[in-house]
Amino acid sequence: MRTARALVVDDDPDILAVLQMRLESMGLDVSLAGSHHEAVRLLAARGFDVALFDLRMEPVNGLKLMEDAHAQHPRMPVLIMTAHGTIDNAVEAVRQGAFDYLTKPFVPEELRGKVGRALSERRWARDRTLLRAVGETLGSSGTMDRILDTIAQATVEATEAERAAVFLLEGGRLVPMASAGLGGGSLDELAEAARAVIDKKMPAMVSGQEGRMMLGAPLFVGGGAAGALMVETPIEPTAEDLELLALFSSQAAVALKNARELERLRSGALAALGRMAAQVAHELRNPLGGLKLFAEYLEHRLDQAADPEGADVARKINREIDHMTELVREITQFGRPSALRRGLTTLNGLLESCLVLAQARVKDAGIMVVQELDPSLPPVSLDHREMRKVFLNLLVNAFEAMQGGGTLTLRSRLAEPGWVEVSVEDTGPGMSEETRARMFDLFFTTKETGTGLGMPIARSVVEQHGGRLEVRSQVGRGTQIRALLPVEAP
Ligand code: ADP
Ligand code: MG
Repeated sequence: MRTARALVVDDDPDILAVLQMRLESMGLDVSLAGSHHEAVRLLAARGFDVALFDLRMEPVNGLKLMEDAHAQHPRMPVLIMTAHGTIDNAVEAVRQGAFDYLTKPFVPEELRGKVGRALSERRWARDRTLLRAVGETLGSSGTMDRILDTIAQATVEATEAERAAVFLLEGGRLVPMASAGLGGGSLDELAEAARAVIDKKMPAMVSGQEGRMMLGAPLFVGGGAAGALMVETPIEPTAEDLELLALFSSQAAVALKNARELERLRSGALAALGRMAAQVAHELRNPLGGLKLFAEYLEHRLDQAADPEGADVARKINREIDHMTELVREITQFGRPSALRRGLTTLNGLLESCLVLAQARVKDAGIMVVQELDPSLPPVSLDHREMRKVFLNLLVNAFEAMQGGGTLTLRSRLAEPGWVEVSVEDTGPGMSEETRARMFDLFFTTKETGTGLGMPIARSVVEQHGGRLEVRSQVGRGTQIRALLPVEAP
């Protein structure tokens, strides 16, 4: 571990000299400043674990300096130094956010005790943040995304960094999975640093452009580095930052491992269930085909026999058989996703025809449909039979969500270069957290006659096309589902 850093600011050089000696004898790395100006410059360049400011300085006093310092380092403990007999000032300093005060001339035990406490208090504050984050992460039964988000967020909070990001190795490529903090701009430099950290297999500091510092720690999952937890700060980090980051990354690795195992278990069980369903469905296909023939024959006979009541019943039987056949078809298709038969497709045309079909399938009581289809879209390479299922299902879901009426908006547009985006938005009731988390599970449905197959099929088809589905939903406001698809086959 690196030594803790102290910053001492006083306009009296003798005091500086005394404090330097005393603090260094306590094992601290001491920086000195004789003025507000100089102190601000040092504070902008690096973090400190503790600061000692003289109260009476010209033209700006120690309390103002503390305010400036806290604006940049909100959790840095500050000790305000006052002359003997000005206890009121000392109390006021603490009220304004000083950790404690020191009276001049210094009593060695008091100095040692208060500085020591300031240092351990800082550690304690960070540990608290860490513990809370750890608890939350482990307690959340959430998905991998949510766990990684929590880790990034907690890292930013505990290290006071500008930005934290989690990178995972996927097929040799480093993919940013989550980021938090206010730092903006490209993640490329951070990704490069992450690569270095992973190669080194240990926490490290990397300097970037414009004096930016990047710290990173590899995420070890099952013997190898699965990625890295990175933070970016404009100032040189303090003693504990690296140590803290290493702690976080080991925590993150555990969470990651759990999430992966859970996902594997879940998908294994689902796959088994899916195979069984597919087999049952397959067995049903032939008898259903037979039933359909008989029912049609019956309907025809009863029509001819001028038995309208009987013919009506036969028609109902026919409709039910159609419904079952559809179900069976969906289930068997999910069992083994077919190879794509891609062709250049006019996306807007496909969308319009799906819209017509979806509208016909549901009783759209008082639903307004808005179409915003970008006419300048290029032809997209996709399997239109498969994609039709996706769009149909998204549209039908949206219609079904708006039983009491509302607005459905269907959009298409060019997203990032080389990508098109189709969005289906409704003003329905939205989804609860629970529904949102399970909507892609096979057979999950909240509808009386739902199959719970639409969304998992939609996702698997979109992903087969090299695209992705994104869901935004707000309870009481509505739902937007976006399908992002590459224009060309990847
Ligand atoms: P199904 O439509 O047969 O229920 P899906 O897989 O298509 O199955 O959808 C799963 C569940 O996701 C639905 O039952 C519903 O709870 C939820 N859902 C999907 N789309 C929407 C939407 N637009 N608004 C509200 N809930 C939705
Ligand atoms: Mg559906």
